[in-house]
Amino acid sequence: MAYQTRNPTTGHLLRTYPNHTEADIEAALDAAHTLYKSPWSRAPIQPRLRVLERLAEVIDARKDELARIVVEEMGKLISDARDEVWIIAEIARFYARKSEEFLAPVKIDSALGDAWIEHHPLGVMMVVEPWNFPYYQLMRVFAPNFAAGNPVISKHASIVPHCASIFAEMVEEAGAPKGAWANLFITSGQVSDIIADDRIVGAAMTGSEGAGTAIAIQAAKHLKKSTLEMGGNDVFVVLDDADLDHALEAGVFSRLHISGQECICAKRFVLHEAIAKTFLDRFTKAMATVTIEDPMDEATELGPLSSSEAAEGLAKQVQNAVEHGATLHLGGRQIAGEGFFFEPTILTNVTRDNPAYFEEFFGPVAQIYVVKNDDEIIDLANDSRFGLAGAIFSKNIERAKALASRIETGAVWINTFASTAPELPFGGVKRSGYGRELSHLGIKEFVNQKLVLVSKTA
Ligand code: NAP
Repeated sequence: MAYQTRNPTTGHLLRTYPNHTEADIEAALDAAHTLYKSPWSRAPIQPRLRVLERLAEVIDARKDELARIVVEEMGKLISDARDEVWIIAEIARFYARKSEEFLAPVKIDSALGDAWIEHHPLGVMMVVEPWNFPYYQLMRVFAPNFAAGNPVISKHASIVPHCASIFAEMVEEAGAPKGAWANLFITSGQVSDIIADDRIVGAAMTGSEGAGTAIAIQAAKHLKKSTLEMGGNDVFVVLDDADLDHALEAGVFSRLHISGQECICAKRFVLHEAIAKTFLDRFTKAMATVTIEDPMDEATELGPLSSSEAAEGLAKQVQNAVEHGATLHLGGRQIAGEGFFFEPTILTNVTRDNPAYFEEFFGPVAQIYVVKNDDEIIDLANDSRFGLAGAIFSKNIERAKALASRIETGAVWINTFASTAPELPFGGVKRSGYGRELSHLGIKEFVNQKLVLVSKTA
């Protein structure tokens, strides 16, 4: 697909971006590898951390401009765009301040002698990222790798080239050396060739199962490590003893956040039968009355989907769910007129033989399930090919904690919707992927955890 900026609010094409050439790719690989081989990657970490601090300052200084660009390019609400800009600066600061501690040698008690683990960079990384958090996804892979000393080659989604370009510009402005970060407008085939290149040591990918599988296969074929952050079908569990006002507010927010195009937002609402009717009535009313308008307007609660393909695909998915027996309780259609807007939608009666039961709906579509007890909650939550995150609402924290431990996902949140912070690991199990980003775990994914041992007998 050609790299282009098309405003999802109006549907208007604003700008196209030419693809990089094979010569550009070679230059990027050469610069990255040369940097890795230079003293930069092995030198004391502090100069790299100072660049991350400066990057946070550059982001803060450009925050209004950055937020507007995201809204224009992929249609999220201006308030969400501001939050995204805020968190990328926080991630840069987090790794600037914590990486030295994370990468410090770790002593091991061993009968064989004095032993410790050192952390060394591995080399040049290939990363492939999606459009739904166009800066945040890049920062999740840039900051830890930069701190660790790994140069990165990035292929961003083709619908957010402006965000991709501006991120690269800011990394340079912050003082990162040539080769530390390369943004390439390239095809999937070229990504595959880059992964095969001897100068690349690993691949990190966030996106759909199809793309993740292609990248994982190519990395495995060349015996390179990969991490995958794929989709989810997260449960949002409301127990009979939940604070319903709070659960309702969180549920509507979480299902409509980024127009429902978030990997960890509430997708399957699992309601205890004692509160199911009350919750569904109130949830339906709240979903039916959200303000659907221009995402630049501060009062808007639901903006457009990211592209016409996304809106058309979602409409087909809903129709297919209904054809297989689901009940369309609310919405279900694209909104006529300019832009790629979609009605807030609720599906009930989704049975296990309905394809929708196992699918991720990447848009404002909630599925409702009613359960009788905690065991049924676990059976339903874990009857999923995905395993990304989930949320449980209950006033009984011990009961919620017991359920959280039994849910097969990379994260569970109690009495709040699933969210993100620099210090919290992010990632899934099952077909939601493998490996972790952010936190102390994320920075260890692509470092050599090297054992050194001095023999007792020496
Ligand atoms: P996508 O189609 O997989 O696109 C993601 C990235 O992969 C884009 O840069 C895309 O490039 C590229 N790509 C697509 N096919 C490829 C291939 N065969 N080889 C190499 N690169 C390829 O995903 P999406 O539909 O845009 O994103 C939504 C999905 O991402 C959802 O499933 C969502 O849950 C998931 N997601 C997961 C997380 C997480 O952290 N777990 C976070 C955000 C999103 P083009 O744009 O050029 O096609």
